[in-house]
Amino acid sequence: MKVFVTGGAGFIGSHLVDRLIDEKNKVTVYDNLSSGKKQFITHHLQKDNFTFIEADLLDLENVKKEIKDHDVVFHIAANPDVRLGAQKPEIARKDIISTYNLLDAMRLNDIKKIVFSSSSTIYGETPAFPLPESYGPLLPISVYGAAKLAAEGLVSSFCHTFDIQGWIFRFANVVGERGTHGVIVDFINKLKRNPKELEILGDGKQKKPYLYVKECVDGMLFGFKHANEQINIFNLGCDTTTEVTRIGELVAEEMGLKDVTFKYTGGKRGWKGDVPQFQFDITKINDLGWKAAHASDEVIRMAIKDVLHAKF
Ligand code: NAD
Repeated sequence: MKVFVTGGAGFIGSHLVDRLIDEKNKVTVYDNLSSGKKQFITHHLQKDNFTFIEADLLDLENVKKEIKDHDVVFHIAANPDVRLGAQKPEIARKDIISTYNLLDAMRLNDIKKIVFSSSSTIYGETPAFPLPESYGPLLPISVYGAAKLAAEGLVSSFCHTFDIQGWIFRFANVVGERGTHGVIVDFINKLKRNPKELEILGDGKQKKPYLYVKECVDGMLFGFKHANEQINIFNLGCDTTTEVTRIGELVAEEMGLKDVTFKYTGGKRGWKGDVPQFQFDITKINDLGWKAAHASDEVIRMAIKDVLHAKF
């Protein structure tokens, strides 16, 4: 298979690329390195079945040229920082236009398969959970979530209008090796600066499911290979959650720190647009035959170790 991976130099994208190369596919990574790192893919650069294009999805003419002759597109590129939307809402505009450009380039080059990395943030703040894929109305409360929902809409509309097949995966919080952002990285950096005190955004009671990055890739590839509707939508996560205060305790423990004082900024959410408590229903991907191997707390501990021992 000839696979075009947008965002393939990023945290999740680079693990996906490792798997695709292991499985003997030809892989093209299209990434502007805005948050990705070339080090994450350097081990593939000399391989015959790997090509890296450093470019932006906003450049439609270039996407149209580079995407030619691929069989499937994995659209992983986006600005992943949910918090940033409150300061820079233009991230939504960029990510929506990027997704449109990609789909239009697929249409013009007759490419018929797209796999899209969406997010649990599309559900917004809901009165009840766990949330199944069929839940609605979908009213995200972050600009990031809104951009993901708009992109899902574009994927669905292009699939139906231009006879394309789509796989949409709504990820839980993904953590692990090569992690560059999110709560674990944030806590480790804060405790390196001040090992006595940890500032925790909100009241620390925020509770979400965490998914290990290699399992996220595994689940995505499983869904892609085993679901065959025109549009295939899956929640991708585990059926347990971890509280933010617990993450702080685990980070302190793994860093060998004792008597760390937790200082809460207060309020029930970490930032504007944060959904404090969340759990989605993962029965659909489980029934297809895939289940996350680790519970959320275990995943947090594994990811802390990865980030603490990261080579870059
Ligand atoms: P990441 O920042 O490591 O990866 C995103 C990649 O996309 C980066 O390499 C970046 O350089 C590239 N990129 C961004 N805009 C681009 C553009 N216009 N043109 C070309 N390349 C561009 O983030 P990640 O955590 O690996 O996230 C990957 C995907 O998964 C994103 O779409 C993100 O929204 C989604 N997601 C992530 C999580 C999570 O917990 N990490 C949860 C839900 C969904």
